Amino acid sequence: HGETVHTADVVVIGAGQAGLSAAYHLQRRGYRPAPETRPRGFVVLDGEEGPGGAWRHRWDSLRMATVNGIHDLPGMEQDPPDACEPSNTALPRYFSRYEERFDLPVVRPVRVEAVERTDEDPRGLLRVRTDRGTWLTRAVVNATGTWNRPYWPSYPGQETFTGRQLHTADYGSAEEFRGRHVVVVGGGISAVQLLDEISQVTSTTWVTRREPVWRDGPFGPDEGRRAVAMVEERVRAGLPPRSVVSVTGLLWTPALRAAARRGALDRRPVFTRIVPDGVRWADGTVQAADVILWATGFRPQLSHLAPLRLRGPGGGIVMDGTRVADEPRVHLVGYGPSSSTIGANRAGRDAVREIDTLLAQD
Ligand code: FAD
Repeated sequence: HGETVHTADVVVIGAGQAGLSAAYHLQRRGYRPAPETRPRGFVVLDGEEGPGGAWRHRWDSLRMATVNGIHDLPGMEQDPPDACEPSNTALPRYFSRYEERFDLPVVRPVRVEAVERTDEDPRGLLRVRTDRGTWLTRAVVNATGTWNRPYWPSYPGQETFTGRQLHTADYGSAEEFRGRHVVVVGGGISAVQLLDEISQVTSTTWVTRREPVWRDGPFGPDEGRRAVAMVEERVRAGLPPRSVVSVTGLLWTPALRAAARRGALDRRPVFTRIVPDGVRWADGTVQAADVILWATGFRPQLSHLAPLRLRGPGGGIVMDGTRVADEPRVHLVGYGPSSSTIGANRAGRDAVREIDTLLAQD
């Protein structure tokens, strides 16, 4: 019914760090905004209203001083960071300048709803269906991140809780919780950073499934490589990726040491049940609570790839580097071992190198 059909040799989905890195490397290899140049036309489809990927949505108190270190996008340095500036303005501004500087063909807001095969032949076209028309393409670089898929575990009695439940993705600022008791669930960096902030204004309880592992100094490049290699091995075997922090542990910072002195980091195992006015452990102890903050992480946003049936029996997608092992037309960047700003840069480059070779074969 008159739906617009576009064509592009490569469609990049998502304009976060991983998608922009792919776009940069496509340009360097002579790809140009589709449909002007064919072959070698490409487009980036992004669901956001403006540049910045998921950084647009990070909470205000996540400042350039409190992020772990943001790697530059390929080919252009960030302005010297203002430590006090929230990452949700500094990074979108940088991404915006970047898109302009390299004249990247980012179309937004476009939400990709489904990617389908038009043909089982790996040289056949893929159909990318969106809320703003359809693109036919020879290859997809999927760079959709995790922000839109916050992970909420479920516990018995959860629906009976009369207080507020929220996920880190919904967090605004600690002030919202003043005077209320907050239970923070989760053992990652977000959990401890938010505990630090919230425990400065109100009382908190921290629960994690496993005993947290703390480290004193930043991990060296070797340890970083080992952690990434471990996650890489999982996705090569078709298992769902784990977060790199689950492998590297939590780093003591001066702020977190101060939080520990306040008692905010005295960790308890996770409760077994949620009751209307709090949480309860197996031994019957109850902690009264007004708020449960689920700092339980995110999962890869891949629902639009469901028609491709990429998931295997291991619950994950069998990967070979950035390429889906059974589907050479689809690369996942910013996924698993490349879900960091440096990993995203490399993944964008590697995916483009392989896709360029694939497209040159016909
Ligand atoms: P994103 O930035 O999430 O971009 C994905 C893009 O895809 C978004 O624009 C989204 O709207 C779009 N999209 C999603 N689905 C669709 C769809 N169906 N159709 C169209 N568009 C879609 N890494 C570091 O290296 N250092 C840090 O200090 C650091 N701090 C972090 C702090 C937090 C709180 C979190 C959650 C992560 C942090 N990371 C950090 C990880 C890092 O942010 C990401 O790994 C990195 O930015 C790569 O992003 P990305 O491109 O994969 O995804």
